Amino acid sequence: MADLVVRNALLRGADKTVDIVIDQGRIAALEPKFGGQASTEVDAAGGLVLPSFTDPHIHLDKVLISEVVRDNVSGNLEEAIAIIWEKKKRYTLDDIMGRAGRTVQWAVLNGTTRLCSHVDVDTVGGLMPLKGVLAAREKCKDIADLRIVAFPQEGIVQDEGCKELMWKAMEMGADIVGGMPFNEMTSDDSKKHLDICFEIAKEHDAPLDMHVDETDNPNARTLEEYATRAIKNGFVGRVTAGHTCALSAYDDHHAAKVIGLVKRAQMNMITNPATNLMLQGRLDIGNIRRGLTRVKELLAAGVNVAYGQDCVKDTFYPTFGQCDLLEVGLLCAHAVQLSMPNEIETLMDMPTVNASRMFEVADYGIAAGNTADLVVLAEKSPQEAFRTHLPRPAVIKGGRIVARSSITRELVRG
Ligand SMILES: [Zn+2]
Repeated sequence: MADLVVRNALLRGADKTVDIVIDQGRIAALEPKFGGQASTEVDAAGGLVLPSFTDPHIHLDKVLISEVVRDNVSGNLEEAIAIIWEKKKRYTLDDIMGRAGRTVQWAVLNGTTRLCSHVDVDTVGGLMPLKGVLAAREKCKDIADLRIVAFPQEGIVQDEGCKELMWKAMEMGADIVGGMPFNEMTSDDSKKHLDICFEIAKEHDAPLDMHVDETDNPNARTLEEYATRAIKNGFVGRVTAGHTCALSAYDDHHAAKVIGLVKRAQMNMITNPATNLMLQGRLDIGNIRRGLTRVKELLAAGVNVAYGQDCVKDTFYPTFGQCDLLEVGLLCAHAVQLSMPNEIETLMDMPTVNASRMFEVADYGIAAGNTADLVVLAEKSPQEAFRTHLPRPAVIKGGRIVARSSITRELVRG
């Protein structure tokens, strides 16, 4: 007897449904009609079944913080960072763990079972944010896999003492070395920031994932510095860049050169459409930029691009966010103008195939022998999934159902 069978599952690109048989955490077989028995059955009813989503970029230490701090009146990134200082000094373990845990539960309900969280490491909050998210990771380990990026949000050179905290964070259990090289006083300091991050990554044999040029300023040039260092320091394929908004502010010639370097470095590119549509381009008059990186050009150049939730009700993105990657994908489709059938397929690749690549999942995908991490959708095609993004009937992690949703909708007349 199998542990679990997902019946009538429509796989992407298929026109007939299959039954997915799951045993001991793994996909045992894909059969047109499974004749055997299983302890638990899920009827996908012809809905699309995908590998569960991966959110490559979120800030679990800061989620839901907008409920407890003052409003961001300018709406920009600098004020969003400053508002948090007061709160950050008074952080408690329970507070961070609670907010992070609630958000991870939303993510799982929406079909995401892997999240990569940046966590602030600086002299304002010390290592408390990391301790909180580490505790949340432990608490949520049965429903989601979390990877943690040590993120020096306040800069490393200009925040004296941060460098030591970054080393400590990696020893305490952070998996990935983060960075925010543009947030330094001079471009020389930005380069030092990058060098320090590479030094830590080398010592810990860890990949890097940085916040890069999250600004409309076309003079921000740390993406090319980052890519060049990856190529020169033997980190090809082990680097990720989030945001990269300035890439959209460059002239086309320079942008093409930088995309070439990004490609050579085999850098993963993460766009965060929800937050950056809200934060960037606020000083533009007339031709208002939408703040996202050059998603279409990067995809056309063959770069691995995914999108992340980034923020949930914090000071950067105070009002919205529910950790639903189909919602983020819908935003991305509008901002980047992805609407043709092949573009919608790409839009669905981004939180599945593309994001899982940076998460380094070894046995990824719906095939016999692979770990059974699945999301059952109510819709029958990627296009319908982005259009209606209904509650996910079931989410399966390691062969076990970890979330179920149902919805009843009816017109009531008379
Ligand atoms: Zn971010």
